[in-house]
Amino acid sequence: MTAAAFHDVLIVGAGHAGAQAAIALRQRGFDGSVALLGDEPWLPYERPPLSKEYLSGDKPFERMLLRPAAFWDARGIDVLLGRSVVAVDPAGHRVTTADGARVDYGTLIWATGGAPRRLTCAGHDLLGVHAVRTRADVDRLIAELPAAQRIVVIGGGYIGLEAAAVLTRLGKHVTLLEAQDRVLARVAGEPLSRFYEAEHRARGVDLRTGVAVSCIEGHDGAATGVRLADGEVLACQMVIVGIGIVPAVEPLLRAGAVGSNGVTVDACCRTSLPDVFAIGDCAAHANRFADGAEIRLESVQNANDQATTVAKYLTGSVEPYDAVPWFWSNQYDLKLQTVGLSAGHDETVLRGDPAEHSFSLIYLKAGRVVALDCVNRARDYVQGRALVAEGARVDPALLSDPAVALKELTDRRSTASTQP
Ligand code: FAD
Repeated sequence: MTAAAFHDVLIVGAGHAGAQAAIALRQRGFDGSVALLGDEPWLPYERPPLSKEYLSGDKPFERMLLRPAAFWDARGIDVLLGRSVVAVDPAGHRVTTADGARVDYGTLIWATGGAPRRLTCAGHDLLGVHAVRTRADVDRLIAELPAAQRIVVIGGGYIGLEAAAVLTRLGKHVTLLEAQDRVLARVAGEPLSRFYEAEHRARGVDLRTGVAVSCIEGHDGAATGVRLADGEVLACQMVIVGIGIVPAVEPLLRAGAVGSNGVTVDACCRTSLPDVFAIGDCAAHANRFADGAEIRLESVQNANDQATTVAKYLTGSVEPYDAVPWFWSNQYDLKLQTVGLSAGHDETVLRGDPAEHSFSLIYLKAGRVVALDCVNRARDYVQGRALVAEGARVDPALLSDPAVALKELTDRRSTASTQP
């Protein structure tokens, strides 16, 4: 029997979080052995363009690599691609891959993201039904695009809306179906949902809310339509499903880690297993910006910042994760930047004019600023961050006045608080 390979730090999952953990460890002078093991066949790449510039053909894959190929070698980071971890032995500090190989670790960083949630109805596995999570998903979808004129997108979250925007621009007839009574219901306030619904409709998307899918119809193994609960059948040649992800934590939970929707981590991203950390989309953590509730954040910001938290911890600097959440989404010529978490807000303030495609929606909870959604309004986004970070109490009339820069409100507050 051959001996198992050993790495001081083994990172499972070579996406945003995993790659950043390896990068940050080296940046901080960690000189032990580091391996980055992932089940996709490609070097770590940016995922956000998959539903944006990569889908539209405006960004080649080479420009999505998080680092050039030579980087990993130069930093002494072993990148092991096309390998999936199926079991973790926490007592033995060992993982097993699907091909039966064993890899031993001193510290394990679990950074596996999630798998797209699948429909469970009949027809969910027909040809022509696609997810948008990996390069392989999108390459398959792009290969079928020439033969698809009518496309149904299921799910009105950011990924579904971004895909709908690109495909509409490519001249496709797109129908977008959302089960709830508005798009983006999980992540944004109603005014933002209504704005995006109107923008998509104005560009020709047949956007329907409050609709339930009954099944995907097919012929000869390929999707031909989507049947709704009311019996209507929407004929199409392609279905795109964007209904969220299931965190990829099964091997860790089987090994005894605490968690359910993701693996539970503490403020330093430690799981309940010894020497096992978890970061990124799969890590359920208590977040200050969610009033301390245990949540998973699915964003590049969270992936990178949690990776840095772990790299710091492993290099002797214990700094609990406390980053302000931020996110972006590009649809048509609308650049949305969001900062903070709006869930649980009890008041919204509109700043700017949606009709001019430049506005911010500011969310307050018990009088404090908790989040901003800024559409084509980068300055508000940059300046509003400090208000979110400190949970500032600001007069809504001032927030809504575009003549008053948000920075001024922060400055005024700090001046006031330093007055004797
Ligand atoms: P991932 O990047 O998903 O990486 C996890 C890796 O682990 C994957 O390669 C996976 O295949 C691999 N893996 C899983 N299980 C195993 C296993 N058992 N063994 C080995 N490898 C495994 N965020 C934003 O902030 N802004 C955006 O505009 C935005 N747009 C997005 C658009 C799309 C289409 C998608 C899919 C996501 C988008 N996101 C966006 C979210 C962002 O990409 C994720 O939050 C981020 O990629 C999370 O990083 P991660 O490392 O946790 O997971």
